[in-house]
Amino acid sequence: MELGDKIESLKGIGDKTAALYHRAGVFSLWELLMYIPRDYMRYPEVKRAGELRPGALEAVCLTISAEPTLYHARSMAVLNAVGSDGTGSVRLTWFNMPYLKKNLRPGLKRVFLGKAAARGESLVLEHPKTFKEEEYEKLKGKPESIYPLVKGLTQNSVRKALNTILKEVGEIEDYLEADTLERLGIMPLDRAIRTVHEPENAGVLIAAKKRLAFDEFLRFMLSVRKLKEKNYSVKNGYKLMECAEAGRLMDSLPFKLTGAQLKAYRDCLSDMEGERAMMRLIQGDVGSGKTVVALLCLITAAANGYQGAMMAPTEVLASQHQQKISKLLKGAGLKIRSVLLTGSMTEKEKREARELISSGEAGIVIGTHALIQDKVEYKNLALVVTDEQHRFGVNQRESLAGKASGAPSSSKASVTGEPSEEVMSTNWEAGDGDEALRLPHVLVMSATPIPRTLAIILYGDLDITVMDEKPEERQPIKNALVDIRYRKKAYDFIRDQVKEGHQGYIICPAIEASEMIEMENVLDYSEKLKGYYGDEIRLGILHGKLKAEEKDRVMGEFAAGNIDVLVSTTVVEVGVDVPNATVMLIEDAQRFGLAQLHQLRGRIGRGDAQSYCIFVNTQDSDKDNERLRILKETNDGFKIASEDLKLRGPGDMFGIRQSGELGFKIADIYNDADMLELAAGFASSLKDSEAGRLSREFNEKYTNEKVTL
Ligand code: ADP
Ligand code: MG
Repeated sequence: MELGDKIESLKGIGDKTAALYHRAGVFSLWELLMYIPRDYMRYPEVKRAGELRPGALEAVCLTISAEPTLYHARSMAVLNAVGSDGTGSVRLTWFNMPYLKKNLRPGLKRVFLGKAAARGESLVLEHPKTFKEEEYEKLKGKPESIYPLVKGLTQNSVRKALNTILKEVGEIEDYLEADTLERLGIMPLDRAIRTVHEPENAGVLIAAKKRLAFDEFLRFMLSVRKLKEKNYSVKNGYKLMECAEAGRLMDSLPFKLTGAQLKAYRDCLSDMEGERAMMRLIQGDVGSGKTVVALLCLITAAANGYQGAMMAPTEVLASQHQQKISKLLKGAGLKIRSVLLTGSMTEKEKREARELISSGEAGIVIGTHALIQDKVEYKNLALVVTDEQHRFGVNQRESLAGKASGAPSSSKASVTGEPSEEVMSTNWEAGDGDEALRLPHVLVMSATPIPRTLAIILYGDLDITVMDEKPEERQPIKNALVDIRYRKKAYDFIRDQVKEGHQGYIICPAIEASEMIEMENVLDYSEKLKGYYGDEIRLGILHGKLKAEEKDRVMGEFAAGNIDVLVSTTVVEVGVDVPNATVMLIEDAQRFGLAQLHQLRGRIGRGDAQSYCIFVNTQDSDKDNERLRILKETNDGFKIASEDLKLRGPGDMFGIRQSGELGFKIADIYNDADMLELAAGFASSLKDSEAGRLSREFNEKYTNEKVTL
């Protein structure tokens, strides 16, 4: 068994199942091993009946006290039983599981595990799972893996497949030597992989995840290093001079550029005129006005007789950019033409767009990753802007460069589809580039407030401009931090906002109910709201398991005002601009990192009207409240990120990853900041030849890819 083998080579995985895994970004056995749980379920301590808290997942040991009853309500079979211990009694309810009745004889003593709810005076466990006492004791200490899924894939099938590999693979060889591991104080790879899938306890789990985070950071840094070397040898093949057209655009804007915007534009200009090709990251908080800066650069490329392209992570964002940009170009009386190219356009529209691109008529091209697909030929591409994607698209740049110079595009594009919230396909390798290629200038724009020290570690010497100034005074968002008792008030408040003609977002951390993790989820929540609002409010649903077209359709409807309230996971985080949305309610706010909450909040407060953000801390713990209070105190993303780093500290692995959009699958730049530093130190201690050998070994051992350095 080779870890680089296709998953189809595994017993029990046929073409159909393989296709599901492919959708989840898993193609090889190694990728399946790296398909790590998104969360772990821990079995709670067994409590007494008198101690149960409504709303919590609880385990209680009860004796069934009377014959259970079964009745039918609408199309549902409802089974009720009562169990008690010395301290009280609890009702047990199951829906559509009538066959359980015969096992629940009076006198039966079992541990029941389920979500507790208050129903009038009495407490109910809904849909409890039943265990023998000894059985439960064994389970208790051991966290159970919960995998991210795509439709059709089940927890059990993932667990089974992983079991098979782990049994058959033998010891997984480490690409790092034993003494290196010891020096760095990290866990051997074999142990780490086995532990993340089947942890013996929470303590080793943290160490195991740290090890895998280390590897991910290390590989990233080795590839940046390679890129850097290459970048030095990349002469500026497209010297772009400052142009009058950009000035005309500035003059036509209804506002003056901020100092930060001007500086960012100047930085880019001096890069594009300079000796080396531009490779710059502009980091600016949400709403700092990055789009205009990008536009000025794109105009510069076009006015110099070349083309500039801007890639956005979603179709919604791309078409939003196109609308705004073509309007601005027109408003300034410029003759530069911008075209849109996205995956969901009709074949005819796409063909027309491609023609405008290949003839050079389009000076500015805006689109999703469809831009890098094979059929697109550029006339003269000199600049690539990537919006809201926080990883340098190394391969993208090269495949675009390939198009620009007519050379074959590099073998493997890094992004094969829309990034999903759970699985990002990433690709480490810069590919074996041809030094003779003329690489276009690259500008990456990100709103992720990475503290500068981390940015330097992550991106090495790549140039960074920080835009730390916001345009004019907008009305600051009003924030409320509440517990679940406030929900009803919040729903009414949202209804009032809608009545005034505004829109709102409700954010839940999960898509659908998972067996036993206590988190609000989009599907159940929207049902609940439907019951509450009736026809008064038009609800929409958005989450990562929807097809890309469906996501875009929903976002489009929301932007057009045909949906009043959007119940969504964090997929709305990315760059969406619906200025009419004035209220956001975030459920389970304590499960998110502050940086992510800040990004989410950035979706409102974009228009003239006063906006409101309501954070619901469903646990209402003091520690979380203290952390969340920072969001009330400041609107400064950079400050929030650094405070968060201090307060959360490393090792908070049960929270939701907050830097997922950086493209790391396992590592989190905030939670794993310690590994980031460790990997950075290790990477810089390596000689070039050693770094190359490590990359090669990694690829040979785990991915079957032949990489030449
Ligand atoms: P982001 O940095 O989040 O991408 P955008 O570029 O979308 O921000 O800009 C947010 C809003 O601010 C847009 O509506 C834009 O027109 C406006 N804007 C940009 N620059 C300025 C400025 N200097 N003064 C006032 N408004 C501005
Ligand atoms: Mg933006």
